[in-house]
Amino acid sequence: MWLILSVIKIKSISRIEYLLIILVILNTTTTENKSRAERLDSELKNMERSIVHCDLDTFFVSVERLQNSKLIGVPVLIGGSSDRGVVASCSYEARKFGVHAAMPMRLALRMCPEAIVVRGDHDMYSQYSSIVTQIIEEETPIVEKASIDEHYLDVSGMDRFFGCWKWTQELRQRIIKQTGLPISFGLSVNKTVSKIATGTAKPCGEKQVQGGSEKGFLAPLSIRKIPMVGEKSFTLLRNMGISKIGTLQQMEVFTMQKVLGENGINIWRKANGLDDSLVIPFREQKSMSKENTFQQDTIDMDVLRRTLISMVDTLAFDLRKDQKLTSCVTLKIRYSNFDTHTQQLQVGYTNSDRKLTEVVLSLFKKLYSRRMLIRLIGIKFSGLIYGSYQTDLFDDSAEEVNLMQAMDKIRKRYGAEFLMKGICAPLPGKGGEHALKST
Ligand SMILES: [Mg+2]
Repeated sequence: MWLILSVIKIKSISRIEYLLIILVILNTTTTENKSRAERLDSELKNMERSIVHCDLDTFFVSVERLQNSKLIGVPVLIGGSSDRGVVASCSYEARKFGVHAAMPMRLALRMCPEAIVVRGDHDMYSQYSSIVTQIIEEETPIVEKASIDEHYLDVSGMDRFFGCWKWTQELRQRIIKQTGLPISFGLSVNKTVSKIATGTAKPCGEKQVQGGSEKGFLAPLSIRKIPMVGEKSFTLLRNMGISKIGTLQQMEVFTMQKVLGENGINIWRKANGLDDSLVIPFREQKSMSKENTFQQDTIDMDVLRRTLISMVDTLAFDLRKDQKLTSCVTLKIRYSNFDTHTQQLQVGYTNSDRKLTEVVLSLFKKLYSRRMLIRLIGIKFSGLIYGSYQTDLFDDSAEEVNLMQAMDKIRKRYGAEFLMKGICAPLPGKGGEHALKST
C-alpha cells in the first residue's frame, strides 16, 4: 500500500486527494479481509464434523449384573420395591413385557411378575459412570457428559490420522474390556443424528451415518426417535397422520411452526438431520453455590435447619432448571469469631430436594460441633454434569416426583420465590430477628 502511495505522491496531488486515496485503499483491504474471513467461516461451517454419541446399555442393570451374575439373562427391574415405587431402569428381558422406565413398580410387576426387583445403589452407578468418563477423556479431545450413562465426543479431524469409525470402535472395545459394561455408539456429522443412530444400534452395537445420508437414514424411523418429540408433540403429530420422520421432512417448516410454534422449527430441523449445536465439555459447568449471612448471629437450631432446607430448595431448583446433576456437596459454616469450617461429601449424581436436604443436614450435624453463634452458612454443589431428573427414583414415590415437577413448573412461571415449602417459612417472631442476607 505504501509503495502505491509513494508513486501517487510523486505526482504531487493535494492533501485531500491523498487522504481519500488512503481511505479507498484501507476500505479495499478491509473488504478483502472481511470476505476472506467470511469464506473461512463458511468453510468451517461446511467442514464435516465427526460427532460420536455413546450410551451405556441399561446402565443400572448392567452394573448390578457385574455384582450378581444371577441377574444375567432374566428380567430385572431397578427401583423402589414399595407399592408406590417407580421403575428407574429395566433390562431388555423386562422391556419385552412392555415395562419401561418411570412406570409405577406395581404396574411393572403386574406386567412382568417373574421380574427380579433390585433397589439400586446410585453411589455405585456414579462410580462406574466416572470410570467410563475417565477412559473416554484419556482418548478424546472434546467430551460432553450428557448424563450418567451418555457422552458426546467431538472427534473431528481424527479421520486424517486414524479414521473416526475405526477409532471409535476401538474406544468402545476398550470401555467394554475395562469395565465389563455393554455400550453402544452412533457416529455422524452432528449430535442429533448420532444420538438417534445409537438408539438404532442398541443393544451393544455401533452405527455410522455417512455425511450426506442423514435424511435417508432418518426417513423410515418413527417420529418418537427425535429427541425433542415428547408425549404432547407425538400425539399432536400422530393426530395429523404423521408417524414417520420422512413425512416430517416433506412438510414445510412454516406448517410445523404453525402447529407446534418455535418447537416445531427445531423438530423440523432435527427431522432433516440438521443440528449445529456444539459438544460442550462438561468441565465448564463447575459448581453452584449460595451463602447466607445472618443479620444477627444465631445458635437457634430451628432457624439454622429451616435456612439450610430453604437454601437446598433454591439450589436444587436451579440444578433442575439448568438440567444439571451434582455429585459433590460442600457445607460451610462461619462462626461469630470468623472461624470458618467446611466439609464435603461425594454423592451419587442427583438434583433431588429430598436427597440433597438429607446430605446437607447430615453434613451440618457433623460440622457444627462448637456450639458457637453462627454468622454465615454456605452450600456448594459441584461436580456438575448435564442430566435431567433420573436419580433417586429408587426412593422417591411417583407422587413425590410429580409434586416436585409441579412445583418446578410454578417456580419457572412465577419465579423461585413464589413458592416455598411450609418447613422453610419463618416461625412467628423469628423471621425478623434472624433475617438473612443472601450473597
Ligand atoms: Mg443408557
